[in-house]
Amino acid sequence: MSDDPCIFCEIVAGRAPAARIYEDDEVLVFLDLYPTARGHTLVIPKVHYENLFEADEDSLMAVTRVARRGAHALRNAIRPDGMTVVQLNGAAAGQTVFHYHVHLIPRHHGDNLKIHGRRTAERSELETQASEIAAAFATTGDA
Ligand code: 5GP
Ligand code: ZN
Repeated sequence: MSDDPCIFCEIVAGRAPAARIYEDDEVLVFLDLYPTARGHTLVIPKVHYENLFEADEDSLMAVTRVARRGAHALRNAIRPDGMTVVQLNGAAAGQTVFHYHVHLIPRHHGDNLKIHGRRTAERSELETQASEIAAAFATTGDA
């Protein structure tokens, strides 16, 4: 791993901005800055693990629990036709940020999914979306 600070660790620590949706002791949810779809969301463990192969089981379970809630929240807030849940491990798999994360990508009939978006979203636009999804998140409950 390089000595550069990990951007997702910086977001967890509050040293880098992000349109945050939800957090608990173990997991943080925020919007992707280069979204491939409206509501493109990332779910990460607060502890740094490079990928699936380094992450411990409890962290993976915590992320999965929250990803499930996030998927419900996105479905309620955005009303997509479907949802792609994807997670990349290693540069060969297309991973670009080496802090374990799960993508939640709302899908619509006829869209042309690219996992990596091409534009940088407006931060104000992301903050508005994050509030809408956070409100939906609050209604999903823990179960
Ligand atoms: P990966 O390719 O590693 O699976 O996904 C990394 C994701 O992180 C990409 O979708 C990329 O757009 C997103 N990303 C990269 N840098 C930042 C950032 O500084 N803030 C946020 N919110 N997302 C980022
Ligand atoms: Zn990190």
